[in-house]
Amino acid sequence: MITVYNPANGSIVGEAPELSGSEVQAAIDRTFAAFPAWSRRLAKERGDLLRAWFEIVRADRSAFAEIMVQENGKCFSEALGEIDYGLGFIEWYAEEAKRVYGDTIPSHAAGASVLVFKEPVGPTAAITPWNFPFMMICRKIATALAAGCTMIIKPSEETPLTAYMLLDYARRAGIPEGVFEMVTGNPKEIGELFTGDERIRKISFTGSTAVGKLLASASGATLTKMTLELGGNAPFIVFDDADFDEAVAGAVAAKLRNSGQVCISPNRFYVQDAIYDRFVAALAERVGAIEVGYGMRDDFVVGPLINQGGVDKVAALVEDARERGARVVIGGKPHALGGFFYEPTILADVDDDARMAQTEIFGPVIPIYRFKSEEEAIARANNTEYGLVAYTYTRDLGRAFRLSRKIEAGMVILNSGSVGTASVPFGGVKHSGYGREGSYYGIEEYVDVKYVLLAGLDR
Ligand code: ADP
Repeated sequence: MITVYNPANGSIVGEAPELSGSEVQAAIDRTFAAFPAWSRRLAKERGDLLRAWFEIVRADRSAFAEIMVQENGKCFSEALGEIDYGLGFIEWYAEEAKRVYGDTIPSHAAGASVLVFKEPVGPTAAITPWNFPFMMICRKIATALAAGCTMIIKPSEETPLTAYMLLDYARRAGIPEGVFEMVTGNPKEIGELFTGDERIRKISFTGSTAVGKLLASASGATLTKMTLELGGNAPFIVFDDADFDEAVAGAVAAKLRNSGQVCISPNRFYVQDAIYDRFVAALAERVGAIEVGYGMRDDFVVGPLINQGGVDKVAALVEDARERGARVVIGGKPHALGGFFYEPTILADVDDDARMAQTEIFGPVIPIYRFKSEEEAIARANNTEYGLVAYTYTRDLGRAFRLSRKIEAGMVILNSGSVGTASVPFGGVKHSGYGREGSYYGIEEYVDVKYVLLAGLDR
C-alpha cells in the first residue's frame, strides 16, 4: 500500500493500493471492454449518469473538502472552492454530451451527400497531479464520458484519497466498472503501460513539462492523441493606468491560492516604474496580514507546501534571487511552524537573470520586476519557454487589445486574477503543452471526425 501523509503535520491520513503491472493491465482491459457499450449509450443517458454523480458529490462536499485539506494541505474554504470548480465540469459536460453535433457539407458530386460524424476516440487514459486532486479528475473524466469514451485515471500518489472517493461516488451514481477505472502504483510503470497500449486512443496529462515530454515521445510509437497541460511561468503585468487596488487584490488572490502551487500562479510580477514602490508597499501590507497555518478552519490561510522537495526548491530559488541582488520585503525563509510551511514572501528588484525568472516557483513567493514601456513589458513577458497564462492590469483599451494579441499564451486575463471555469478553453502554447480542457473545445479532444460520402443513392 501507499501511505498518504498530511503535509501540515506529517500524520498518516490513509493509504491507497500500490497495484502491480498485471493489476493495472487488468484495469486497462476493463476500460477497453466497456467501450463498445458505453459509446453506444444514448448521449442523454451518459449525461444523466454524470448528473447523478454530480448531485451526490455535491451533497457531500464537506466530506470531500476535509479529505483534501488532510492530504493536500490547502485550507477548507479553498477546498470547497475547488470542489465547486470541479463539479462545474461534471455539470457542464453532463449537458454537453447531447450537443456533440456533426455536420453536413454541400456536396461536391451530383446526387451525393457529404456527412461529418463525430465519434468517440475510444478508451482513454489520464494522469493527474496533486495540486487540484478533485478538479483535475472531474475535468478529464467528465469530458471523456460525455463524448462516449471510457477512461482510466492515475491520480497523484500524493493525493489518492480524494480520487478514490470520487470513484466510489461515481459507482454509487451508477457509472459502471470499466467506464471509469482508477489505478495507483509506480507512476513510471503505469505511464509506460498507458503509452504502450495500442487500445488507449488518447491520453490527457496534467503535470510537469518534463513528464509531459516523456509521455508525448513514448506515445509516438502508438500515435496516441495527447492533451498536455504542463508547467507555466505566468507574467502578471501592472501598468500605471491600472486600477491600483484591484491589481493588488488580484495579485494576492492569484498568487497565494494553494500556497502558490498552481500552474497558472503568477510567477513574475512586472510593475511599471511610476507605481512600483507604491505597489510593493501595498502588496507587502496585504500579504503580511495573511495567516499561515493548518487548513481546517473556515477563513483563508496559506497552507504548507506538499513535501520537503517543494520547500527545498522554493528556498533555493529565493536564495539565488537574493544573491543576484533581490531585496526581501517580507518573508524569505521557511515558516516558524516548521515542516513544509514557507513564509509568504515578496522579493523586490529581482534581476531577469535570477533562476526564478525562468523556473516555475510553486510556492508563496512574489518576485517583483520593474519595467518602463509597454514594448519592454511584452518582450520580457514573452521571454520564457512557457505560454500558459498571462495576467495584465490596464484600463487603456488599445493597450489591452495589443497585449491580448501580442502575449504568447493560451490564456490572457485582463484586470482579474481569476482564470478557470467549466465554460472556457483552458490550456497553453509552447512548452506549456497543447490541447484544451473545458468548454466545447474540450470535447473536441475526445472525438474523431469521420467524413462520409453517400453517393449513388439518389438515382
Ligand atoms: P509535479 O511536479 O506536479 O508532481 P509530475 O509531472 O511529477 O508533476 O506529476 C504529475 C503526475 O505525473 C503525477 O500523477 C505523477 O505520479 C505522474 N508521473 C510522474 N512521473 C511519471 C512518469 N515517468 N510517467 C508517468 N507519470 C508520471
